[in-house]
Amino acid sequence: MNKILISPQKYIQGAGAINNVAEYAIKYGKHSYIIADNFVQGLVKDKIEKSYKKQKDASYQFGLFDGESSMEEINKHLDAVKQVNADVIIGIGGGKTLDTAKATAFKFNKPVIICPTLASTDAPTSALAIIYKPTGEFESYMHLPFNPNIVLLDTELVVNAPARFLVSGMGDALATYYEAKVCVDAGSKNMAGGLSTNAAFALATLCRDTLYKYGLEAKKACEAKKVNEAFENIVEANTLLSGLGFESSGLAAAHSVHDGLTELEETHHFMHGEKVSFGTIVQAVIDKNYDELEKIVKFSVKIGLPVTLKDLGITEDVEKKAMIVAKKTVHKDETIHSYPYKMTKDIVYKAILEADKLATKIKEGMK
Ligand SMILES: [Zn+2]
Repeated sequence: MNKILISPQKYIQGAGAINNVAEYAIKYGKHSYIIADNFVQGLVKDKIEKSYKKQKDASYQFGLFDGESSMEEINKHLDAVKQVNADVIIGIGGGKTLDTAKATAFKFNKPVIICPTLASTDAPTSALAIIYKPTGEFESYMHLPFNPNIVLLDTELVVNAPARFLVSGMGDALATYYEAKVCVDAGSKNMAGGLSTNAAFALATLCRDTLYKYGLEAKKACEAKKVNEAFENIVEANTLLSGLGFESSGLAAAHSVHDGLTELEETHHFMHGEKVSFGTIVQAVIDKNYDELEKIVKFSVKIGLPVTLKDLGITEDVEKKAMIVAKKTVHKDETIHSYPYKMTKDIVYKAILEADKLATKIKEGMK
């Protein structure tokens, strides 16, 4: 099997980066179609206007994102971009806006610039869009042939979002190294259908080290709404390092446990990275990686991520619910099958309960 690494063509990050968006967009053609919801349009419209004024012949229009990243929403934007024959699609906002932009650009066969306003997951750089039903339930994964042309991230916008988003992004990013390690050791396929390169695994490793070093300081910076070096480092870890790390090294148990947890009503108001956080601890039990488990739990508690079932609102019928989660975790399409041995619901069930017990004890000991 070949090694494969995939990534965006260009990654831009910095305070005020959005002010230069037209400079990058004009390289793909004169007219940009910018997908953003009402709230985000309010945040960026003056900056966008100024940016396009500086570029000769550059023009743009907004397309209002006002639903789910559903086929209905995508087709609405597709009709609009066809009508004006847009040269480049730009998505500014959270995950669903960005996925709509990726899917619209793919269907219209035009370049796409992705501008996340949050650092809450590692999805922006990926060649993946999640499609929901108009009513909000998950529908399918749209696997795109290429990653976004450009990911442009304005840290000034990200720092003004509530710190919970950044912390959740750290929960997502912390899983990356541990899942990558399983895939690398087992010689399993990454998300691009190849083996991990040393480069991708080095990024995953740097992602983990950056989180441990700067995570707490970055959270404080976000609470103070101040972009500093630690904040920049964590935004990069959450977005670029984790994004390339997971896609080009591969996923394993932590994300499958996340998917299992979504079976329980109690977890629905928790963010992606908050559920992945518990998944990473379960994976450490499966991997018998107890030294790292303590490190993971202590770090997660310090920055405010959930580490136990109780933290995730699961307090009744715990054993029965752990089995529901375990069953979904080992569904045949799940990445937990990256392990070189057969993964069963009983292994996962026991690991969930042990992870909960160990994390509860470590958390208690920190008080
Ligand atoms: Zn994730």
